[in-house]
Amino acid sequence: MASELSPSSSTSTPAYKPRYIDIGINLADPIFRGKHHGTQRHPDDLSAVISRSQEVGCTKLIVTGSDFTSSREALEIAKQYPGTVYTTAGIHPCSSAIFSSANKHEDTDGHTMPCDPDPSAPIPEDHEPDHEKTQKIIADLRQLIDDARSQSSAAHLVAFGEFGLDYDRLHYCSRKIQLHSFAAQLDLVLSLKPQLPLFLHSRAAHADFVALLKEKFGGRLERLERGGVVHSFTGTAAEMRELMDLGLYIGTNGCSFKTAENCAVVREIHLDRLMLETDGPWCEVRPSHEGWRLLVEQTKKEQQQQLSLSESTTPGTSTPSSAAATADGSAPSANGSGAATPNGQKPSQQQQSQRKGKKPQKKEPEIPERWKTVKKEKWVEGAMIKGRNEPCMIERVSKIVAAIKGVSEQEVCEAAWKNSVQVFGLDESA
Ligand SMILES: [Zn+2]
Repeated sequence: MASELSPSSSTSTPAYKPRYIDIGINLADPIFRGKHHGTQRHPDDLSAVISRSQEVGCTKLIVTGSDFTSSREALEIAKQYPGTVYTTAGIHPCSSAIFSSANKHEDTDGHTMPCDPDPSAPIPEDHEPDHEKTQKIIADLRQLIDDARSQSSAAHLVAFGEFGLDYDRLHYCSRKIQLHSFAAQLDLVLSLKPQLPLFLHSRAAHADFVALLKEKFGGRLERLERGGVVHSFTGTAAEMRELMDLGLYIGTNGCSFKTAENCAVVREIHLDRLMLETDGPWCEVRPSHEGWRLLVEQTKKEQQQQLSLSESTTPGTSTPSSAAATADGSAPSANGSGAATPNGQKPSQQQQSQRKGKKPQKKEPEIPERWKTVKKEKWVEGAMIKGRNEPCMIERVSKIVAAIKGVSEQEVCEAAWKNSVQVFGLDESA
């Protein structure tokens, strides 16, 4: 497919407009409605989150369903944003205690489970899977999928999941129950006609994870009709290679770049197996991460390129050649003061430098911020919330992957776009 190119306003070099699909974004989490730990802290700003995403070129979002509540809510959101929001449906390993006879389930106030490891005391292993509960859960899941597929909005549900194994967080659900939940849901997938692609979660559980997939779908996963992605990948290079050999895709987000070792694994992901995600509100790239260091380096390089470009052209008309151009082809904000105005127009570089000259600025952030970011208590319309990762931050993920692999951002974005469209059967024209 042809990549999207737009002419630069000042040079004949066409600037690449990145396009992204956030394959893992927990927009059904009440945090995107202003609710933090059960308390309404600010107005519902979901539509602003989605428009910020579209503004950076992240035009398709696959909202994660990780239990019944979030799977249903995700479908509701998808109905409001046809062609933009798609969904998954399934039971996350950390929400799988509902399969247990003890039915111990952490109260999360409706929030999704972070994919970040959060180890504490494991819950006892002695509870058995409850077969009656299991039958009911699987029947309800099947109903949810059938209902979604029978509606005119059938195209919304694009994957089964999020499900899998998470041995880093046994305090939410024991190993035994997680294995039971994963197996029961894999059986459900096998019985769906047609099957759905899989949106998988695997943490510190690789051997069991692969063994169960092979048990259900065959040694080469030959009975897995639509493929799947192992999202939020943080495993070893050998584990990642085994997943790629099985035909699975690898989803990367901020959690994939924490250490130099993590980044060395990302370097080995083949472009034709790569997908991008934010896993918001979780898994943001943090200053303590190796990925952040790479992002700072990359930013400095881009700023130098911009500087030399603007020195050789009329000030105020240059367009950065980097993939930081916004979805509408205009220049991105070069610093925190360049937040988009409510009507979406951004100040020109000239206006920005004038503004800079007029008033003393706060210390410039290491990484340019397109939008003002505030604490949840200080919410103002149009601002992002500190610590709440959003789909518009996917451009950081792609920049870091490009820096790690030593390829252009265009190569990363286009490969991930193609893989995601293909696996999830997304309508590119919508
Ligand atoms: Zn996950």
